[in-house]
Amino acid sequence: MEPSGWIGQKHKLKHLMRSVHTGRIVHALLLTGPEGTGKRAAAEYLARGLVCAEADPPCGGCPACKQALAGIHPDIHVLEPERGMIRIDPVRALMNALSMRPYSAKLHVAIIDGADHMNESAQNALLKTLESPTGSVMFLLIAESASGLLPTVISRCQTLRFAPMSVQECAQTLMAQGIAPERARTLAGLAQGAPHKALRLNDDTEFAALRETVLRSIETLKSDKDVLTSANLLTQDKADPMRILDMLELWARDLMALQNGAPPFEADDVAKLQRCGIHGKRMLDAVLLARRQINANVAWTYVLENLYFSLLSHPKSTR
Ligand SMILES: [Zn+2]
Repeated sequence: MEPSGWIGQKHKLKHLMRSVHTGRIVHALLLTGPEGTGKRAAAEYLARGLVCAEADPPCGGCPACKQALAGIHPDIHVLEPERGMIRIDPVRALMNALSMRPYSAKLHVAIIDGADHMNESAQNALLKTLESPTGSVMFLLIAESASGLLPTVISRCQTLRFAPMSVQECAQTLMAQGIAPERARTLAGLAQGAPHKALRLNDDTEFAALRETVLRSIETLKSDKDVLTSANLLTQDKADPMRILDMLELWARDLMALQNGAPPFEADDVAKLQRCGIHGKRMLDAVLLARRQINANVAWTYVLENLYFSLLSHPKSTR
């Protein structure tokens, strides 16, 4: 299964591969964009395409592709930050490796994931090689933003930007990967349209359990006397309050859209809240207030109880 967050870039990547294979070369590519938009997956795909010598690379089946997929291709080099930083020594070691002849491919592919975490001396060490391309190295620099990079580094690279998808597009991508519609929508919303982030959430069993707990907590909320018990379900959990608020905010927005006449989503979560008589706009206001309170260091128990009282303030109103 190929990761799909960068699917919109695939024709560009194929074009780049062809350019490199036919000698019209790009020496360095800078892949930028928010977390979870598939930059690393795109870089790995491109790396496979560059070491594969078959007609339509990456073929996925040749020895080079198999080595690349297993992360053991000798000519694909990956550098990542250690304790938040890429320092000069690993960059020098990489440059040294790149000065040798490639082992089995036509060129070396050097992936620097977290290139914006290179300190200045590391970037300068990289620059020496970037400035005198030999044709036997392709650099793939990955960075959330280019702002941490020296202008001289940026100017040597062709930039490829990765944007989050709309929540709807992201949900469709997730559904195409076999994720149930309501779950896909929740994941896409929480990941703000970044499919790889959504997929990570999907693999997170804690997240699935939390979603159940949050829903159950709201469902048990029938009147003021339930507030403490319902809130207790969540405050006893060690989950990050902001994560719970993210979930509640997403549902509140969906509920609001539904109550304002948007066509119903295939989202079971929202239907459940609707049946509980929750008012979307009131819920959203309460969640936004809760966020401000958390940021002001108000105790989570108090914030959540307060939020639940607001949800109940007009229990019959659904519009
Ligand atoms: Zn291949």
